[in-house]
Amino acid sequence: MKTICIFNQKGGVGKTTTNINLCSGLAMMGYKVLAIDIDPQGNTTSGLGFDKTSLKYSIYDILTSSDVKISDAIIQSQLVDNLYLIPANMDLAGAEVEMIESKDREKILKEKLKEYDTEFDFIFIDCPPSLGILTLNALTACDSVIIPIQCEFYALEGVGQLINTINLVRKSLNKDLEVEGVIMTMYDSRTNLCNEVFKEVKNYFKDKVYNTKIPRNIRLAEAPSFGLPILLYDDKCRGAEAYDKLTKEFIKRQEVK
Ligand code: ADP
Ligand code: MG
Repeated sequence: MKTICIFNQKGGVGKTTTNINLCSGLAMMGYKVLAIDIDPQGNTTSGLGFDKTSLKYSIYDILTSSDVKISDAIIQSQLVDNLYLIPANMDLAGAEVEMIESKDREKILKEKLKEYDTEFDFIFIDCPPSLGILTLNALTACDSVIIPIQCEFYALEGVGQLINTINLVRKSLNKDLEVEGVIMTMYDSRTNLCNEVFKEVKNYFKDKVYNTKIPRNIRLAEAPSFGLPILLYDDKCRGAEAYDKLTKEFIKRQEVK
């Protein structure tokens, strides 16, 4: 079992899209997957077809009530076999303040996961676009991070800060935290800019960068509004092909490790 966090403190770089489609893709391949949504926007939750307004328990309860267990908050996908979710909604926005008084507040998720007798092949955590206590809980609970980087002019500006954060977490909260991989998203190979950004990212992260690049594809942006992963929304589109290829590349790397 491996716990992976989809992390980049920048918003809109494709974290949630990657989380939804990697989790679904792996589940469709037969792996048992738990997606944890730790973003108050709850986009993984709605993108996987769940109603954010009618949740019994969510990640909020996991983080703020000592008597709510992981098993209480897991819901099963009706669309994809083998896929499970711990959902999130706007309740979570208040969690950071409520957690200020908690002891070891960065470690709550890690401790709860440890208590839970897991039966998953992979757990993926979709981070919010910030470096607050929610993200720290995710980074403390995981074995490794996948970093989506959007192909744009300012792409590398945030990377220094991102690496600083990972190093800080390694020092104090999670010394074995690894970079699992780096994904180029919204990629357009026809533009010089994309090619330049890719070269720089490759220079920095070397073989951590996945060979599969995710193109900008309108179908990927449409699918969440139907609550569907891309493979169920339009399995022939370029976005679906790319995420399918990425899922296979991800698994291949796991086998090498
Ligand atoms: P994050 O979770 O990092 O904030 P999202 O995955 O929510 O990023 O993506 C931001 C927006 O861009 C969303 O509206 C999403 O549907 C869209 N999007 C993500 N990836 C792609 C892509 N490859 N092509 C087109 N639109 C995309
Ligand atoms: Mg998101």
